[in-house]
Amino acid sequence: MNTTTGQLTGRVHSWDLSTGVDGPGTRFVLFVSGCPLRCLYCANPDTWHMRDGRPVAVDEVMAEIDKYRPFVTTAGGGVTLTGGEPLLQPAFTGSVLRRCKEAGLHTALDTSGFLGARADDALLADTDLVLLDIKSFDVATYRKLTGGELAPTLRFATRLDRLGIPVWIRYVLVPGWTDDAVAVDGLGAFLAGLHHIDRVDVLPFHKLGTHKYDALGIPFPLRDTPGPGPELTARVRAQFRAHGLRAF
Ligand code: SF4
Repeated sequence: MNTTTGQLTGRVHSWDLSTGVDGPGTRFVLFVSGCPLRCLYCANPDTWHMRDGRPVAVDEVMAEIDKYRPFVTTAGGGVTLTGGEPLLQPAFTGSVLRRCKEAGLHTALDTSGFLGARADDALLADTDLVLLDIKSFDVATYRKLTGGELAPTLRFATRLDRLGIPVWIRYVLVPGWTDDAVAVDGLGAFLAGLHHIDRVDVLPFHKLGTHKYDALGIPFPLRDTPGPGPELTARVRAQFRAHGLRAF
């Protein structure tokens, strides 16, 4: 055991087990607190503030993961760090990833890439898979939708490609926001130029987080925005496939 990092503490929202959505197989999913973006469709506004997370030592996380080890190893799964934004706490995230690799577990990092520059090469060497959320390929839309800039995410995608790290792209499809055919096509062309994009998941916008906004007493800007119908979802997936990408 690496005792130098075991006492390192991070702010954590929660953890859970999931199958099929946060990487291959059954995953132990760690929700790290704090996010620099404010996506209009965010389903987890309760993870936005680091201060709201519970301080948890790396050792405690690993002890928890150990309890679920039989589930995540027999199903070809592993551990996924998500949030919030795990790269807001790079030392903690890096330590958990390191310890997972020492324990022989598959690791995935779910990130917007906005803070990709905070992930050093050692952290990425301990990351088997990146779930990269690209929220729009249009600079102005990205800014309006997230409050942040697109360029750091694209830089991060290019860096991951150079390092040969497999990437699953996640694209939340919101009518009127991310369904613009030209922007989708631009993203498809960008991704087709990379070599390690395993798949593109087009995720229909949903409003399952509405009650969290109500509980927090903050407005949910997309409360009245409908989810995409099957035809629109199929069109966007087909656009990615036209670039030779595996889109689901
Ligand atoms: S990056 Fe994720 S956690 Fe942060 S605001 Fe956007 S959807 Fe929410």
